[in-house]
Amino acid sequence: MSQKILVVGDFHPSTIDRLKGEFDVVQVSSRDDIMAMSDDQRAEIEGFATFGWGPADVIDALPNLKCISSFGVGYDGVAAQHAADKGVVTCHTPNVLNDDVANTTIMLILATMRRLIAQEAYARSGAWEREGSAPLTHSIAGKTVGIVGLGRIGEAIAHKLSVFNCITVYHSRSKKDVDYPYYADLMEMAQASDVLVVITPGGPATKHLVNRDVIDALGPDGTLVNISRGTVIDEEAMVLALQEGRLGGAGLDVFEAEPKIPDGLKGLDNVTLTPHVGSATYETRQAMGDLVVDNIIGFFKDGKPIAPVPEAKGLL
Ligand code: NAP
Repeated sequence: MSQKILVVGDFHPSTIDRLKGEFDVVQVSSRDDIMAMSDDQRAEIEGFATFGWGPADVIDALPNLKCISSFGVGYDGVAAQHAADKGVVTCHTPNVLNDDVANTTIMLILATMRRLIAQEAYARSGAWEREGSAPLTHSIAGKTVGIVGLGRIGEAIAHKLSVFNCITVYHSRSKKDVDYPYYADLMEMAQASDVLVVITPGGPATKHLVNRDVIDALGPDGTLVNISRGTVIDEEAMVLALQEGRLGGAGLDVFEAEPKIPDGLKGLDNVTLTPHVGSATYETRQAMGDLVVDNIIGFFKDGKPIAPVPEAKGLL
C-alpha cells in the first residue's frame, strides 16, 4: 500500500519494520517535528501511529488524515471524538494486554498487603538476624475486593482473584451480566471493601472519581490499588491519607503527573510503586505493536480495522 504513515514515538523495531513493509513511513519524535513539516508534507499523511498521544491541534495539522492507530487500550491522550467529528477513525489495542495488566494488579495487591518490599528490605539488610522475625502482614483470603470498572481488564482481574478465596464485588456506571455483586454507589462499595482496585479509563469523565471521601470510606485498614490512570484518584488526598494513617496502603502503577511520583509517596513503606508497567512485558508489547500495525492495514485495505474505539464506530 502506498499511504504515508506518520509514526511518533519509540516503537519496537519489529513494529516499524512491519509498517515499512506495507506503507511509506515517516518517523518523527515530537510535536515540533510535525509542526516543522511543510504544509505539503503534512497533507500527504493519511495514517498516524502513536503511543496514546494525539491532541486536537496535531489532528488539525494533518488535513488528509484518515486513521490514527494508538498503542495501548487507554486513549485518553488522543482527541478521539474530535478526530471522529472530522471523519478520522481512531483505533487502539484492547484485550491483548488483559492478562499482563491483570497479573500486575494481582502482584500489586499481594505485594502491598504482604508488604513485599519492606519484607525484602528486612531480609536483605540483616534485620532478621539482628532483630528477629519480621512484622506480620495481612491476608487477602476472606477479604472483599471492590473493582472500580468491570470492563475487559476488570473482568480478567476478577477471574484471577477467584483463586484467592476473597469476595469480589464491583462498581461501574452500568450493571454487567456477571455473578459478582454490583454496587451502583462507589462510596458504599468502598465502605464494604478491604481492597479497592481502580481500572476505569482516564480522562475528564473519571477525574478524581476516587476522592477523599472514597478514600476515607476505604479506611485505615484498606488497600487502594491503581492500575488505570493517575488522574482517576485525587493523588494529593491519597498521599495525605497514607501519611496520616487514614488509608492502610496503596499499590500504584500510575500517577497524576508521570513520570513524576510525589516525594510524599517515596518515603512510605505501606506503598508499592511501579513505573506504569502494567502491560510492559516483551510478549504483550509485541502483541500491542502488532495490533497497531494490523489496525492500520485493516483500515487501509478494506476499511475494517480490528479495534476501532467506540467514538469511531459510526464512521465504519
Ligand atoms: P474497558 O473494557 O472500556 O473497561 C472500562 C470499565 O470502566 C467499564 O467497566 C466501564 O463500565 C467502567 N467505567 C467507565 N467510566 C466509568 C465511570 N465514570 N465510573 C465508573 N466506572 C466507569 O477498558 P479496559 O480495556 O478494561 O481498560 C481500562 C483502562 O485501563 C484503560 O482505559 C487504561 O486507562 C487502563 N490501562 C492501564 C494500563 C497500565 O499499564 N497501567 C494498561 C492497560 C490499560 P461502565 O461503562 O458501565 O461504567
